Amino acid sequence: MSMLTVENVKKTYKDGHTAVSNVSFELKKGECLGLVGESGCGKSTLARCLLRIESIDSGAIYFKEQAIEQLNERQLRPFRKNIQIVFQNPTAALNPKLKIKDSLLDPYIQYQNELTLTHFSYSSKDAFVKQLLEAVSLPAHLANRYPHEISGGQRQRVTIARAISIEPDLIVLDEPTASLDVISQGEVLNLLKELQTTLQLSYLFISHDLAAVSQMSQRIIVMKNGKLLDQFSQTDLFDEERHPYTKELISIF
Ligand code: ADP
Ligand code: MG
Repeated sequence: MSMLTVENVKKTYKDGHTAVSNVSFELKKGECLGLVGESGCGKSTLARCLLRIESIDSGAIYFKEQAIEQLNERQLRPFRKNIQIVFQNPTAALNPKLKIKDSLLDPYIQYQNELTLTHFSYSSKDAFVKQLLEAVSLPAHLANRYPHEISGGQRQRVTIARAISIEPDLIVLDEPTASLDVISQGEVLNLLKELQTTLQLSYLFISHDLAAVSQMSQRIIVMKNGKLLDQFSQTDLFDEERHPYTKELISIF
């Protein structure tokens, strides 16, 4: 089943710069699709279009076979619940005035009346927060801290815990480890892999780092200057038929 289908999507900013140009791909249920490309090639713009944070000029995006441009207010709610995003910078993604536990509870409080959780269960605020922290291997006592009182790696684990708390179908991971030191990067990638299996998630894993993309993904798409140049199975990464630009990325990793 298709989780996400992107057809000929084009996005031009007001200044006339086309950040995404005729991009098409499919992301199947349960897979991790890797999107790789250098800084400025349009990855985050595309991510924002997929979440309907940004509108598209032409083309279509289908989430679970429903055209997202056509979702009405009532249909937008389940859409917003089912597709979550984790950004590069966890400090900017967390409200500095909220304790970790309150940031973690926020999505649940928003959607509690329409949620049927299968992995997590809610009996009390504290018990729920404890489950979420445990799921991302953070100690329970961090619940009462503020974002500036924990490390960058821990902050990113919190944003991941928040994204999984309402058990979405798809998580868009936009350079989730780019702001972290090398050790935390490896740990967070392993955590994401583990969560994908236990929670049966689909991922769009975005990175400028082909090594990370290749480690995480079953299939890979390559973008440059807003265009999709190559798409292939991870096992075909080193094939002769790869696009010259993909080979260039391989040579520098
Ligand atoms: P990436 O995530 O791959 O680094 P982005 O999607 O952030 O790339 O940016 C793609 C291009 O679009 C860049 O040239 C960037 O300067 C431009 N861009 C990004 N956001 C905006 C915006 N809000 N307004 C105008 N141009 C933008
Ligand atoms: Mg980006």
